[in-house]
Parts: sequence; C-alpha cells; structure tokens
Amino acid sequence: MGIINDIELTEYFSLLEFECPCCRRVMLSPDLLARLNHLRMVINKPISVNSGYRCKEENHRVGGVTGSYHLLGMAVDIHVDDFSIFDLLLYAQEMDFTGIGFYEKENFLHLDIRPGKKKVWKGSKLIGY
Ligand SMILES: [Zn+2]
Ligand SMILES: [Zn+2]
Repeated sequence: MGIINDIELTEYFSLLEFECPCCRRVMLSPDLLARLNHLRMVINKPISVNSGYRCKEENHRVGGVTGSYHLLGMAVDIHVDDFSIFDLLLYAQEMDFTGIGFYEKENFLHLDIRPGKKKVWKGSKLIGY
C-alpha cells in the first residue's frame, strides 16, 4: 500500500514535501508548484522545501504570521544546498512569485503567490516591491 501523499507531482517534487508536519494535511496551489518547478529547472539544483502547507496549529507553533499564505497552500520556504542565497533571491525575483522573504542568516527564502502587489522583504524589513 502506498504512503499517503506519496505522489509525484512533477519530475522534481512530491506532494509529501508540502504536507503539514504535524497532521500530514496538505493544500497546494498548482500555480505555486508551477513556479517552483520552473525555478528548479532554471537553477538546475535540488530545492529542499523547509515548510509548505501549515495547518493553523503548526503555523502558530512555528511563529508564522496570522493570515500566512502557508495556511492556504500558496507559500513555501525553501533552501538549496551549495547555492548562494543571494543568487537564489535574484532568480526568484525573475519568476512570478509575488511575495518573497529573504532570510540570509537562516539561509532560506519564503516564496508565495499572494494576489495583488509584489512584496519583497528581508527579515521584517521591506526591501522592494
Ligand atoms: Zn498540521
Ligand atoms: Zn514562509
């Protein structure tokens, strides 16, 4: 019997990678997946998903903001081994992500596809839009 959510979505990503770690529930926007897959092809390096879908409890546990796009399956936190976080930011900005959080010290990017105006921030500071 297959493991729940063990479903290949693309050549590079499985639904498992996006599930909530506490309850294994998952929501995933096909538009988010398409952009992430595009980013994966362009950088030609494996992308690790630190955080995909979060239920309310999990979002609270990790200190996520209220109304986080992680709750809607519209956000991911990613890192790429042996790849500059600055370069990753540049690539992500060329794709159609509309929310980009840059966490240099922690070495990850938050990417989302929020509706409306684009927003780029570093830690808690807005750096561009
Ligand atoms: Zn959960
Ligand atoms: Zn995030």
